[in-house]
Amino acid sequence: MSENKRLLDDESEAFSKAARVKYFNIVVDSGKGATITDADGRMYIDLLASASSTNTGHSHPHIVKAIQDQAAKLIQYTPAYFANNPEVKLAPRLAKLAPISGPVELAWGNSGSDANDAVIKFSRAYTGRPYIVSFTGAYHGSTYGSISISSVSLNMSRKIGPLLPDVVKVPYPDPWQRLKGESDDDFVDRMFKAFKQPFETYLPAEEVAAIVIEPIQGDGGIVKAPTAYINKVVEFAHENGILFAVDEVNQGMGRSGKWWSIEHFDVEPDLMVVGKSLASGMPLSAVIGRKDIMESLNAPANVYTTAGNPVTTAAAMATLDVMEDEHLVERSARLGEKATEFFNQEKSKFKFIGGFRMYGLDGGIDIVDRKTGEPDPEATTKLIYRVFELGAIIISLRGNILRFQPPLVITDEQLDQAFGMLDQAFSELEAGKL
Ligand code: PLP
Repeated sequence: MSENKRLLDDESEAFSKAARVKYFNIVVDSGKGATITDADGRMYIDLLASASSTNTGHSHPHIVKAIQDQAAKLIQYTPAYFANNPEVKLAPRLAKLAPISGPVELAWGNSGSDANDAVIKFSRAYTGRPYIVSFTGAYHGSTYGSISISSVSLNMSRKIGPLLPDVVKVPYPDPWQRLKGESDDDFVDRMFKAFKQPFETYLPAEEVAAIVIEPIQGDGGIVKAPTAYINKVVEFAHENGILFAVDEVNQGMGRSGKWWSIEHFDVEPDLMVVGKSLASGMPLSAVIGRKDIMESLNAPANVYTTAGNPVTTAAAMATLDVMEDEHLVERSARLGEKATEFFNQEKSKFKFIGGFRMYGLDGGIDIVDRKTGEPDPEATTKLIYRVFELGAIIISLRGNILRFQPPLVITDEQLDQAFGMLDQAFSELEAGKL
């Protein structure tokens, strides 16, 4: 494959159509486990998990009770002034789960976006350097800072500039960019050369505060960087006093079959961002980082009145209980194997499945023109709409990638039902019936 075969999120002509279909014309009324029900009473298997923010499923009884109990006791006292009870229990529990050795500290946020802004702030404050390096295809959120380090969509930055200065984007080593016949090693070497190119031409490494990466890109298409590439980038960061920060907002909390996607690699981050499923979709995020880095900001440079709110932190405590008691990380890994088997079988049946990636219950399936191998957003749109009619929610990424991210509590039976619907939609597309 040659380069540039991934579309920007909003680039394809079919995108506007896809966007309409993406937000199927339903009002979500209730949810239970891996299903949601709309206001007309129609139930769907949820293969999106509210954008990977409900990994424990919808309205898990243990989490509902924790929220109700905490709300009855104390809804809010701002952690900006006083610690609250669930928050002080959650912080050490989360710190222990983080793949960072040595003392760590946390800073709460309300969203993945503001927590990524905080990464920029902590990195600049700690190093005294201005530049942030991030990657093409990345999505880190929609505050000014996090948009500035994102690049999956042009529409994100249209009309709202100027964005944050001193951000440099380097190409994400998406395997799709591999040249025909290129070996693993040659691909990594070429992509690392592209990574180093700015440093060798106009970007002094000693002015770079942090490299921010999704170890597995979510909105970029569920793509995982090669291990050797990440090793080289981290080595380069260490050699040059640059912080290595990972965004686990989409891919953390068991999504990829491990607690954190960085655990697929043999490196440690200096900073890490968690959100979405941390509190099962309640608005809570966190930056977790080395203590010395986390002590570098002057208050109130990163304070939000409701960040670390008692109800959201109680929800996060209950979420961690459910993750552990129901072995959801292991479940994600096991069901991911089942999904791999299914999509392998479908790929051999249908030429329009150009390829797929699956890490735990975290999949991206490329829908392409069966003759040219080019991205086919039109066919993708037809597929997601047909699957919706059949009774499951799945959407696309970058126009032509099916986003497969069901709640980790999905039962084997529900998963089989969803596979049945996907297979039917694929067969109908093949037969020219869509
Ligand atoms: N980082 C990643 C990797 C994400 O996927 C997202 C949201 O999709 C964000 C950050 C932003 O999180 P939020 O929408 O909670 O602000």
